[in-house]
Formats: sequence, C-alpha cells, structure tokens
Amino acid sequence: MSDLYLKLVNTPVGKSAAQSLGLPSPNPLKRLKRVDQPYIEGDVLVGAGSGAKAVATVGATLGASPANVFHATGLDTLDESSKVGNKAEALDVTVELNGKFSALVFDATGLKTPQELRALYDFFHPTIRKLAANGRILVIGQDPQTCRKAPQAAAQQSLEGFVRAMGKEIGKKGATANLIWMAPNAENQLDSSVRFFLSPRSAYVSGQFVRIGKADTAKATNPVAPLAGKVALVTGASRGIGASIAETLSRDGATVIGLDIPQALEDLKTVTDAIKGKALACDITDEKAPKLIADFIAKETGGVDFVVHNAGITRDKTLGNMPEHFWDMTIAVNLTAEELIDEELMHRSLLNENGRIVCISSISGIAGNFGQTNYSCAKSGVIGYVEAMAKQLKDGITINAIAPGFIETQMTAAMPFTIREAGRRMNSLSQGGQPIDVAEAIAWYCNPASAGVTGNVVRVCGQSLIGK
Ligand code: NAD
Repeated sequence: MSDLYLKLVNTPVGKSAAQSLGLPSPNPLKRLKRVDQPYIEGDVLVGAGSGAKAVATVGATLGASPANVFHATGLDTLDESSKVGNKAEALDVTVELNGKFSALVFDATGLKTPQELRALYDFFHPTIRKLAANGRILVIGQDPQTCRKAPQAAAQQSLEGFVRAMGKEIGKKGATANLIWMAPNAENQLDSSVRFFLSPRSAYVSGQFVRIGKADTAKATNPVAPLAGKVALVTGASRGIGASIAETLSRDGATVIGLDIPQALEDLKTVTDAIKGKALACDITDEKAPKLIADFIAKETGGVDFVVHNAGITRDKTLGNMPEHFWDMTIAVNLTAEELIDEELMHRSLLNENGRIVCISSISGIAGNFGQTNYSCAKSGVIGYVEAMAKQLKDGITINAIAPGFIETQMTAAMPFTIREAGRRMNSLSQGGQPIDVAEAIAWYCNPASAGVTGNVVRVCGQSLIGK
C-alpha cells in the first residue's frame, strides 16, 4: 500500500500547504538500504550520569562502528570519568555543540534518586535541538524491578515517561527514542540491542522499552549474516508481514520453512522459492497441525532454531453481533495454535538449544479495539503466554512478542478509508509502518547475541497514540 499523503507532503508545495493548514508533516523514514550498511554513521554523543555502568560496553559497541563518538563533558551531573572507549573525544556540551548528531545516548544506570534525574535535563536540554532528522535517542537504565530501594526504583521508572515523552517531541523529524532497562551485571548482553535501536532497522520503533537480563553467553555475531546456519519456522508466510519475516530471516542467513493454509500454497511457494526455503501447507487450527509441523521439521531439518508465530486473522463484529465461529476462529488462529505447536516441538525436542520463539501480538491486544473483542482477547493472551513462558523456558531459549501498530499490508488495505487514514497518522511518526519494520525487530530477537532479551513485548507502531 502506498501512502500518497506522505509523498505529497514531502514535495515543496505539499509541505507549505500542510504547514499553513496545520496538518501533520511526516518525515519519510530511513530504512536499511544494504545489509552490510554500518548500523550507525555520523556523530554520536554519549553522556553518563553518576555511577554509570553501561557506558564502557556502549563505547565498545560504538567503537566498532564508523561513527565519530563524543563523550559529553562540562556538567557536574555528568560522569566524566566513565570510559566510552578509546575512540571517544571529549565534548563540552555547555559550549562546543556544532553540527547535528545521528544519535544521543545516555547511560542512566547509576541514577539512584529522583534528584539525580537532573542529569537527564542537563544532557538532553542543550543537545536535543542538535539531533538530526531520523536521529536516535537511546537511554539505558537499570530495570526498576531489580532495584532494592524505592528512590532508585522511582528514578529508574521515570526513564520510561521521559523516553515516551521525548519520542513524541522528536517524532515529526522521523527520529525515535527508546529505553533499555538492563538487569544488574547484564552489560555483556547490551550489544545487539544497542545496535538495533541505533540503526535504521528500528525506524518504526519509538517510545519503547526492552528488558535485558543476564545470560550465559554473549556470542559475537557476523553482522552481515548473524543467523547463518539457523533454521526458522514462519507461519502465515505467504504474504504481508509473514513474507517479509521469511525474507528478512533468510537475508540474515537462516534457512526458512514457510507455512500457510493450503489455499495460499502457490503464493507461499513464490516466497519460499525466492529465498531457497521450504513450503509447508497447513492450517494451524487443524487438530493434526502440531504433529504435521513437527513431522515435517523432523524429516526436513531435524530441528528449528526460531519459531515465529505470525499467522493471524481478524473477524470483526461488536460482541452482541458476533457469530460464535468468529470468536472461535480468532482465538484458535491467534492464540491457541501457538501454544499447541510450541508444546509439540518442545515435547519432541525439535526446538534447538538457544532457540527463539517470537509471537505477534497487536496494539489491539494492549488497548482493546472496538469491534475486536475476539482479536483483542487473543492478542492480549499472546502477551500473557510470552510473559509466563519466559520464566519457564530452559536451554537458553527465549520468547518475546512484537505488537505491531498500523502496518501497510492487505489486512490494513481492507480497512475503510477514514479508519485507515486515522490509523496511519495517529502515531508520533505520523505514518504507517512497513512489514519490514516488524521483520527487522524479529531478526533482532533471533540474533544469537540477544540471549538476554526475553519476556518482552516491543511495539512496532511508530509510537501509536492508542494504548500505552
Ligand atoms: P495477512 O492477513 O496479510 O497475513 C496473515 C497470514 O496468515 C496469511 O497469509 C494467512 O493465510 C495466514 N493464516 C491465517 N490463518 C491461518 C491458519 N489457520 N493457518 C495458517 N496460516 C494462516 O496479515 P498481516 O497484516 O501480514 O499480519 C500478520 C500478523 O501481524 C498477524 O498475526 C496480525 O494479527 C498481526 N498484526 C498485523 C497488523 C497490521 O497492521 N497489518 C497490526 C497488528 C498485528
């Protein structure tokens, strides 16, 4: 689906018309152009509050990029003794700000009291106007659930409100703001998430936080093919978001088993043939489906590393008007099937060590949506499933969800014009996302270096005004 308004408003005439009429002027998002593109370029400014713990790791990650890294100094609230890598030059933010920054990164892990939040103001107040279009703000804090003292938990929780508000202020530039909450001593798990949030891969992710826990290993990855040697099962892969997930995981090196209903087999084969994958025709709500899928995997690949539960349907009606099969089908496809497939794969030891389960929720599952009691119920259930399973899974297996907002697919193209236009514009970036935006977030979850990322629900929604 093409967004004509976005194109029009980025012509000189369209831009001035939108400004004079007070209409939104979305900035086109910069997405990945080449797979070997550096995750960040240009000037990056790093600041740290007192007692910062992540800044050295972030410095090492940035040091491996072609970006010019600067370490902010000049204020009492900044921790000037923190190391941000050999490459970083000191830059006094009170006097020396020139040019534009591709990213502003702040390590707030050491903030222990609400008074210390002043460091956020001191770092971002002079620098925020220097953030480039499509720039990135990344704040790193300590997960409030791991803070023993109430003032520290308060300070760390404050980061969520701060980042969400920043996302709303910078969205019109196509820029994003996100938060990483790490567990104590989980610094070695930061690398893949820092890269994701600073890169064009997270173009449509803003106002989000992700929790990163400790994990045994932080494996170095090949940046061009981080998923090489891995096998992925992607359901609903014949079109839309699922096709993009299949293509993206393949681009990153994985062998993909695409699955879709038998009626979609021809389209599915077009997708899987193009990526040298395998096609499996199967209705996931069929009671024989879990066994059929497990048998196929056992025979074709001997196991899978990633299971991406993307297949989904909507059957909208207000509850009083909803026929029972609308209810049953929607719960069965969007929720029950995921659980039964995972159960069978794990029972038969077909999900490999350090595997990744990724489920697709929706902002409807977070906020609820008119006419979608069935869909919202199922997509909320997905979140409950992910959070519960994250505590139970062993052998390095992680589970996370993506909650897409308005993504340009056949599902959203079928919406009435006014609802579609509202869905597109009601977010900080004032535009719809693309299937690739969801796929890139899934590739980040699947990265072997994302071992500490589990139990999360990250929204790919341009910071939609709907829901939290
Ligand atoms: P889509 O309708 O274009 O694709 C869904 C795919 O799932 C189709 O190929 C379909 O054949 C397949 N499928 C449906 N029932 C199946 C079954 N019983 N067995 C096997 N395959 C089945 O949808 P999309 O927009 O690409 O959405 C993909 C996922 O993202 C869904 O889970 C959807 O709920 C979710 N989502 C989409 C949006 C959006 O804006 N497009 C927003 C939030 C969530």
